[in-house]
Amino acid sequence: MQLSPEVRQLCDEIRRFIQKEVEPRSRWIEEHDEIPAELVQKARELGLFGLTIPEQYGGIGLDLAGKCAIEEEMGKTNYGFATLIGNHTGISSAGIVALGNEAQKKHFLPRMASGEWIGCFALTEPQAGSDPAAMRTTAVKKGDRWVLNGEKIFITNASVAHVFTVMAITDRSKAIKGISTFILERDFPGLSVGRNELKMGMHGCSTAPLAFNDCAVPAGNLLGPEGAGYVQALKTLTAGRVTVSARCVGMMDKLIGRCVEYMKVRTQGGHKLAEYQGLQWMLADMAVQRDAARGLTERAIATLMRGERGTLEASAAKLFSTEALGKVVDAAVQIHGGMGYMREAGIETTFRDARITRIYEGSSEIQRNIIAAQLLKEQ
Ligand SMILES: Cc1cc2nc3c(=O)[nH]c(=O)nc-3n(C[C@H](O)[C@H](O)[C@H](O)COP(=O)(O)OP(=O)(O)OC[C@H]3O[C@@H](n4cnc5c(N)ncnc54)[C@H](O)[C@@H]3O)c2cc1C
Repeated sequence: MQLSPEVRQLCDEIRRFIQKEVEPRSRWIEEHDEIPAELVQKARELGLFGLTIPEQYGGIGLDLAGKCAIEEEMGKTNYGFATLIGNHTGISSAGIVALGNEAQKKHFLPRMASGEWIGCFALTEPQAGSDPAAMRTTAVKKGDRWVLNGEKIFITNASVAHVFTVMAITDRSKAIKGISTFILERDFPGLSVGRNELKMGMHGCSTAPLAFNDCAVPAGNLLGPEGAGYVQALKTLTAGRVTVSARCVGMMDKLIGRCVEYMKVRTQGGHKLAEYQGLQWMLADMAVQRDAARGLTERAIATLMRGERGTLEASAAKLFSTEALGKVVDAAVQIHGGMGYMREAGIETTFRDARITRIYEGSSEIQRNIIAAQLLKEQ
């Protein structure tokens, strides 16, 4: 993918930042399930929170290709840190950037760009995961306020967020056309954030439930037209899936590099691992998976950047890249033998982190449903 000199320079800066600031803290983040405040502050200073926010609101204004280039870099470091930044600069701010009115943009975006306010995106509910249309959270108009009641679960960044993009039913009789999006702030009375979930991976990045108990939201915090929330969420998730795919490419790239290094130094049976054809073929398959994932990611980026819907392309990229990552990380553990199973090598961390990519932002099964539906619609 052709990148501008500015984006290439930014990628270099981020690579240096990762080496100097993130990697040395990665094991600590993993073990404490927390991102140190000083690292968040350094990320603010580098402008990471403003990557996708337009320059006029204090950000860097990257397009999807630029965002994906950064995601690929971020895939090579601590997954929790990458998710904190990726979620904020992706699904959690994309709605306000795309659909916010001027007052909303002026109020939220500069603070989000500086990282003073962190965002989260709240769609999932206990009864509405793969089928978000089954949501129960309601928003009822009362004078100049909307009053929200209901709950959300598994919300990334919730514990550290100030800005909450929340989907709720405003007119049940209209089914998905009766879902609207609201921007909430942490101190709105009636909004509460529950305890952080303890997760398999993605340590450091919070995942928590939200509850709305007669939560009063000013009418001016409706994002986009009333009833457009479901379509908006799907659009946001379409682009989000491409960025997940790009991050998986970066993760595979790093794993392959680690395997190449290890195979060249580890000797067994009088030979370097690199001399065993069985392992060479594993390595070759890993590289092909990564390259095919990159190709599908680039196709999806190009489709969306041409202004097309890109639903099939985004789902195909996410489906393939996340499943490829599963295979590649499994092979990486195998190539490292017993060391691959040890925390010390860091491969097992990626093994656990990788698992979420096949579940969130639409599971593999849902991506297949979307692809099939698109194909059947075309005939
Ligand atoms: C760590 C983490 C972070 C998350 N962050 C966010 C966030 O920031 N914001 C947010 O809104 N949500 C978030 N989610 C929620 C996530 O998007 C959902 O977990 C996901 O969409 C799956 O929904 P579910 O967990 O309810 O599983 P279910 O929908 O109950 O699915 C269970 C299984 O059934 C399969 N299945 C379901 N429906 C179908 C079907 N129609 N056809 C075939 N198979 C099907 C699924 O693929 C899955 O294998 C997060 C989840 C996790 C675990």
